[in-house]
Amino acid sequence: MGKIIAMANQKGGVGKTTSAVNVAAWIGLFGKKVLLVDIDPQGNTTSGLGVNKREVKKSTYELLIGDAKVQDVVVKSAFQNVDVLPSNIDLAAAEIELVDLENRANRLKNALISIKPNYDFIFIDCPPSLGLITLNALTACDTLIVPIQCEYYALEGLSQLMSTVRSVKRLYNPQIEIEGVLLTMYDARLNLTIQVVEEVKKYFPQKVYKSVIPRNVRLSEAPSFGQPVVYFDRTSKGSQAYEELAKEIINKNK
Ligand code: ADP
Ligand code: MG
Repeated sequence: MGKIIAMANQKGGVGKTTSAVNVAAWIGLFGKKVLLVDIDPQGNTTSGLGVNKREVKKSTYELLIGDAKVQDVVVKSAFQNVDVLPSNIDLAAAEIELVDLENRANRLKNALISIKPNYDFIFIDCPPSLGLITLNALTACDTLIVPIQCEYYALEGLSQLMSTVRSVKRLYNPQIEIEGVLLTMYDARLNLTIQVVEEVKKYFPQKVYKSVIPRNVRLSEAPSFGQPVVYFDRTSKGSQAYEELAKEIINKNK
């Protein structure tokens, strides 16, 4: 049964999408079936997997708002064992349209029920906000991964995220747990990085992944070729880091 893991942090640019795409690609290469759910209207996960956002017939918008069947939305990527539920700018309207709908927090959860058994892991790439779309991800998921960029304001906003998670736990999803905290854009040469790592470890005891993701230019280049970094430059530091993370996630979920 697919474990559903949300990549969540309401801060933009912390590495949610990069981590979702690259960890999914590696887990797929390790022989596990993976589904990536793109619920960011920017659709960067979708295009990062080489799927043309403008050409998808149905997207996560129709899944959340309409009555599209998940089987009609899912797309096979060109990468081993990785499928995607694509999104595009249409989804931007959902944040407002959800307000008036019944079961507005449970729509993604309900949409994923029938497809869940087909996968080992389902990753949800969240948008950079704590609105209703992210609420749907937190309600649908078993656990969440919180990517944190190693920079001065790293911890800013985390207490708000954690208080949202506590509310979701109380109201919609009693099982929700933190899967892990991922340090991204790590640069060991900077004293600041070391300080941030210490603070994050204090804030999330036992939860921080051993694998850290270094700042690596190949990670920022790969999306423009519509490829996860392992297919673009397998030996890059970025690819190796996501390989380690994929192993850590698989081992934790044996
Ligand atoms: P989010 O999804 O949280 O908004 P992204 O994954 O889109 O963040 O990352 C923001 C930007 O930083 C993107 O341009 C991405 O290519 C780049 N980026 C992400 N992780 C790294 C990294 N480890 N090294 C270098 N660039 C990165
Ligand atoms: Mg993103």
